[in-house]
Amino acid sequence: MAKYDPRSLHAEEFINDEEIQEALRYAEENKRNVELIDQILEKARPQKTETGCVCSGLTHREASVLLACDIPEKIEKMYEIAEEIKLAFYGNRIVIFAPLYLSNYCVNGCVYCPYHAVNKHIPRKKLTQEEVKAEVIALQDMGHKRLAIEAGEDPVNNPIEYILDCIKTIYSVHHKNGDIRRVNVNIAATTVENYRKLKEAGIGTYILFQETYHKKSYEQLHPTGPKHNYDYHTEAMDRAMEGGIDDVGLGVLFGLELYKYEFAGLIMHAEHLEAVHGVGPHTISVPRLKRADDIDPDQFDNGIDDETFAHITACIRLAVPYTGMIISTRETEAVRSKLLRLGISQVSGGSRTSVGGYTQEERPHDTEQFDVSDQRTLDEVVRWLMENGHIPSFCTACYREGRTGDRFMSLCKNGQILNCCHPNALMTLSEYLEDYASPETKEVGYRMVEEELKRIPKDKVREIAEQNIKDIKNSNRRDFRF
Ligand code: SF4
Ligand code: SF4
Repeated sequence: MAKYDPRSLHAEEFINDEEIQEALRYAEENKRNVELIDQILEKARPQKTETGCVCSGLTHREASVLLACDIPEKIEKMYEIAEEIKLAFYGNRIVIFAPLYLSNYCVNGCVYCPYHAVNKHIPRKKLTQEEVKAEVIALQDMGHKRLAIEAGEDPVNNPIEYILDCIKTIYSVHHKNGDIRRVNVNIAATTVENYRKLKEAGIGTYILFQETYHKKSYEQLHPTGPKHNYDYHTEAMDRAMEGGIDDVGLGVLFGLELYKYEFAGLIMHAEHLEAVHGVGPHTISVPRLKRADDIDPDQFDNGIDDETFAHITACIRLAVPYTGMIISTRETEAVRSKLLRLGISQVSGGSRTSVGGYTQEERPHDTEQFDVSDQRTLDEVVRWLMENGHIPSFCTACYREGRTGDRFMSLCKNGQILNCCHPNALMTLSEYLEDYASPETKEVGYRMVEEELKRIPKDKVREIAEQNIKDIKNSNRRDFRF
């Protein structure tokens, strides 16, 4: 039987079923152990240092205790600390991105996704390079700077060369004042050699959802196709890192398996990356199973309600404080609003989850991967964020300055957020306001920019940011960054 070892490169040793069961038993036994819960909460709290703030994070066992805890006032405490961590490391900024679906050809049989190979009643579509260009122009015209590209797994229709061509096309489009400055990639698990090619193509984060960490369920949910191989899929991030990609994004699809199991697996995966590569995941996404073409979420028994979802989000924030957290338009405005406070640092906006969706006037449904609950335009999302005290940020500075992996983490840990991320957020928001916003959003936005500039601690940094924002308003100069 596989033995637990976070440093192992074998899936069943670093995501070890026996260890997860043991952690869940420990959590269940201690879920009302107030003394232990208080100790864990104290450990999770950010601590001030001379240069900024540090957080120790939590082990998968400690975090599992917090997730199992059902004492309302302790859960409230978790929410409070999650918010504290969020403000300490991310401030009130929210990074904005959009997904771009390239192709829905797929040879896999994932039972929860309408792109699965045996679904014969959705049209299959793959963008040509001309169509990629048109989609990118439409996204730039909305104001996007950061994309996550998505494609099904199909070695004939979507080989790595196709993905690389698309990345090249995306970076080459400069329409009016627009450009896409960071392309994150969400494609199937692949070889070290292919990851190296993606790295050379200049990708940002490589994102791959585990879907479920429970091996038996995983194999049942992926009955056919290369994705059926649990070990190959679970070890993908190690191959990506071997191929030179330092920023990787994890995620599970909540609703497929028991959420406490998934949560423990997710934190163990983060611990494994830290133990082997010295850097944890750059992001964690928290998608929940949604309705789509031939997918009915009620067929799955493990759906979670909004309260549990908030509890999970807060516990992830406490366990891995330096990891960005992403929520998509799968969720409604109300849910997104609550989770933003609890640690989410990135949201998608104005998304279309179909192939070629951005160039069509009406939101197309026939090739959608999932129903979009939040159907607001990017302008509406940006204004809503600001009205709720969040700064929408289009910043891609770290990637452009080569600050990835642990260099990015040190920015976080050294308290440079207010002197770096904050002014970058204000400058990129000003670009958005000047080039794409409606008059109403522009007014709300510049009021916010003026107020927030005052919060930059270093005089020199503040002066430069102010001057750059003046330049953005009075000229076509763009892409200022610290
Ligand atoms: S989840 Fe991905 S791999 Fe599975 S069917 Fe959908 S597109 Fe294909
Ligand atoms: S400066 Fe780096 S860490 Fe800060 S918001 Fe920009 S890209 Fe993110």
